[in-house]
Amino acid sequence: MQHVVSLIEEAGAGVHVDTGGEGTVIGAMGDRAIVAGLPLEAVAGVERVVPLRKEYKRVSREFRSRDTIVTIGTCKVGGGNFAMMAGPCSIESYEQTLASAKAVKAAGGAMLRGGAYKPRTSPYAFQGLGVEGLRILRAVGDEVGLPVTTELMDVRDLDDVVEYVDMIWIGARNMQNFNLLSEVGRAPRPIMLKRGISAMVEELLMAAEYVCKEGNDNVILCERGIRTFEKATRFTLDVSAIPVLKAETHLPVIVDPSHAAGKRSLVLPLALSAVAAGADGLIVETHPTPEHALSDAAQQIPSAEFGAFVADIERMLAVTGRTPSR
Ligand code: PEP
Ligand code: MN
Repeated sequence: MQHVVSLIEEAGAGVHVDTGGEGTVIGAMGDRAIVAGLPLEAVAGVERVVPLRKEYKRVSREFRSRDTIVTIGTCKVGGGNFAMMAGPCSIESYEQTLASAKAVKAAGGAMLRGGAYKPRTSPYAFQGLGVEGLRILRAVGDEVGLPVTTELMDVRDLDDVVEYVDMIWIGARNMQNFNLLSEVGRAPRPIMLKRGISAMVEELLMAAEYVCKEGNDNVILCERGIRTFEKATRFTLDVSAIPVLKAETHLPVIVDPSHAAGKRSLVLPLALSAVAAGADGLIVETHPTPEHALSDAAQQIPSAEFGAFVADIERMLAVTGRTPSR
């Protein structure tokens, strides 16, 4: 065993020895071409050499078995800590953001969300307030006492986003924007990475690997619904991705039921299923007057109803033996 370990180490690769299962498994992590060229099969005691199918390493449970806990100010996510994140789809004005944030805070939410750079299907739809939106988000977060998060779409806005928010999220449409992922992997902020609308779980993990590889291990994964043949919902929430991801990775897994549902009456049942399946948090859209919202009007929960929504979530959370992080 020592001989195999030294051969791998001399090739400049990392070694992970696991004696917990049947026999001993020696994992080699490094340049695939170099590791594959090692004469490991010829070493006495080696039963077989198995090339690993999975390319993700730093995000995998093999690399770190215990849950990663991501801390954003007062908000903790993962390792048994459940975080309720909520706020409007888009930041539209100071008053609108404040009204939403007050409801989130009063309901016991842990983080305020709000989009300043909006990925809209139509180039003629509201595109967000940009830096002005970031300023509003920061000011409102400070006023109500909540950490804040927003979406980064373009690397040219990274410095502004780092200046104003506590956590950066990468939206579904940019999940495989690899240069953007590497860039935020060097940013001094936790990253929430949303699953692409047609991305496999493995592709989501590989995208997270891009971020972690640059040194930023504060990554939260988010299931937000995938595209299927079904048209009754905006997207199909892949509840099974939650336990699958939690088995594969030590990173926290949260769920966005709002964009999956597409209509407000479906947000609560989807959110409850996510909590029951073991999600480490939720990110939900709430607007003081959804009928006037500049984006996603049909799915935002009226802020006046947000307290009742969270109370229902907390009952399900209690069933799973957990309490929310505040
Ligand atoms: C959002 O959360 O505002 C959003 C646009 O979500 P997604 O990237 O999942 O569509
Ligand atoms: Mn939205």
